[in-house]
Amino acid sequence: MNFADSEVIAAILGKAGYGMAEEAGEADFILINTCAIRDNAEQRVRHRVRELRALQSRRQGLRVGVLGCMAERLQSRLMAEEDNVSFVCGPDAYRRLPEMLAQVRRGQKAAEVELSTTETYADIEPVRLAGNGISAYISIMRGCQNYCAYCVVPYTRGRERSRDPETIVRETRTLFGQGYREVTLLGQNVNSYRWEEVGFPELMDRVASIDPLLRVRFATSHPKDLSDRLLEVMASHPNICRCIHLPVQSGSNRMLKLMNRRYTVEWYLDRVAAIRRYMPDCSITTDVIAGFSTETLEDHEATLELFRKVRYDYAFMFKYSLREGTYAWKHLADDIPEEEKTRRLNEIIALQGEIALENNRKEVGREYEVLVEGESHRSKEQLFGRNSQNKVLVFDRGDAQTGTYRRVKVESCTAATLIGSLVQ
Ligand code: SAH
Ligand code: SF4
Repeated sequence: MNFADSEVIAAILGKAGYGMAEEAGEADFILINTCAIRDNAEQRVRHRVRELRALQSRRQGLRVGVLGCMAERLQSRLMAEEDNVSFVCGPDAYRRLPEMLAQVRRGQKAAEVELSTTETYADIEPVRLAGNGISAYISIMRGCQNYCAYCVVPYTRGRERSRDPETIVRETRTLFGQGYREVTLLGQNVNSYRWEEVGFPELMDRVASIDPLLRVRFATSHPKDLSDRLLEVMASHPNICRCIHLPVQSGSNRMLKLMNRRYTVEWYLDRVAAIRRYMPDCSITTDVIAGFSTETLEDHEATLELFRKVRYDYAFMFKYSLREGTYAWKHLADDIPEEEKTRRLNEIIALQGEIALENNRKEVGREYEVLVEGESHRSKEQLFGRNSQNKVLVFDRGDAQTGTYRRVKVESCTAATLIGSLVQ
């Protein structure tokens, strides 16, 4: 999401006459787009900001700005604590950046952190920074008002609002015309996308109908809102990728209630069953938090049990991090010791590693259509791409070209990668 935001920021500043520096040492401004979801994300930003002091002392006039969720959360406090930061700009204020930079050039400090109920940057054509020319992110909504007890997002990104579908379809068409073959539609809870009569299933239908050669992905789905209607639309478009990211957070109903997730384990498993009914070949991935307030060994065991039942293809696994201002910060104790959080997290990671490897072993012998994305990191002789399930396949390059679809047969695997060869 921040990546997509940085592309919008580059477009806004590009229009104002700014260009991208080749390297930090040549820049007049360094903008750091930040995440505030966990404390370690913020600590990394602070570390980076402090590192820049050396460069600033060598290069007179180099100014540093902090953008995004951490700027929103800490506001001017951040400039007081990190005195080499000249400006802070929250996620809904990026249109003000040109004015802010002008102000900073005059030697002043600047802070813009007002949140909006309507800003979606719908009219701004992002400058694509990824550079592979094949795969792009498209933001379809902003903000979140689910107020999960542990989560800072509703406070840093404001109210939920959807973007005009016409602008989404137009942006996708433009990308396809430029040779892009994959888009990922982004929102904190894409299932609650709504613009007049257009809900998320209708939006997906429109975007997927642009061209069968365009792959469509999306993130993130909130389990409470994952409808059969969406699954139906997915099943009817082979170019909507067979991969659903469905963050579970915990396998214990007591924890889910305390987290204000508004679904039960039974509901979640029913949604998993529905996904598999509509699309038996669909991969499912998740997010999970270890060591939330009052989590017992029994609750933790329930999470492991859920992982064994669902058999995720991939999981983002986190230790609970207390965030100022959240419901949990106000009302719930952060009472699981750090070492115990780590121990539980490691247990989940180890289990998921085994499951991913077992899942991948079953792929050996199967053939997939792969969108070729580029050279493998390991060897120039090999290319990599993904299948519809979002699994990475590595194979000898042969006559394959990036940006095209090729059939690849899986021959072996690790927990993270499938290794195969081109089918001629
Ligand atoms: N909107 C998405 C998630 C966005 S945040 C959703 O609800 O599914 C990405 C992930 O970060 C969350 O799914 C959660 O697992 C994790 N996360 C959020 N707040 C956290 C916290 N305070 N501590 C640890 N992990 C957290
Ligand atoms: Fe955070 Fe919950 Fe919103 Fe996801 S749905 S961004 S976890 S508040």
